Amino acid sequence: MSGVEVLYACGHKQVADSGLLARRGDLIDVASANPCTDCCRRIAEEAGAFPAVFVNVQRISDEMSAFVLELTEVYSPLDEILAQTGYARSARSLDELTPGGVVDEYADSVWRKEFWFSLSTDPLHVLALMELVKEETGWLSGYLPDAGAVHYLDFPGL
Ligand SMILES: [Zn+2]
Repeated sequence: MSGVEVLYACGHKQVADSGLLARRGDLIDVASANPCTDCCRRIAEEAGAFPAVFVNVQRISDEMSAFVLELTEVYSPLDEILAQTGYARSARSLDELTPGGVVDEYADSVWRKEFWFSLSTDPLHVLALMELVKEETGWLSGYLPDAGAVHYLDFPGL
């Protein structure tokens, strides 16, 4: 894995995976306009936040499913970063068939992003999408004070 140095808003430089940078330059652009992951983790710890990422597959309709990323206990400025990279506030998902709906109270909300695919999609394309989701999850984990707080096939619940 080769890397490229990226300058963040806090003045720190971090090495970004050049593959991620090539494929997901949008994520790095938004991230670098904010404090680096080290600073963000410190901010989370000082705020007493223990953010976690939940990665799942959900049935969206009769024809569509989606890989779904949900983040709990999101702190500022991670909320800004998420808002600018395609995440939106949502109620917590309950299971594979019950996505969280529109959120009317922020207290128990998550930040959610969906990567849709049709059930008739070639499995190779689904695997490619899964690779993208894995990459994004790896990127997000840099913002978690507890590196183990990435949960696969588990739901945030309540
Ligand atoms: Zn920093």
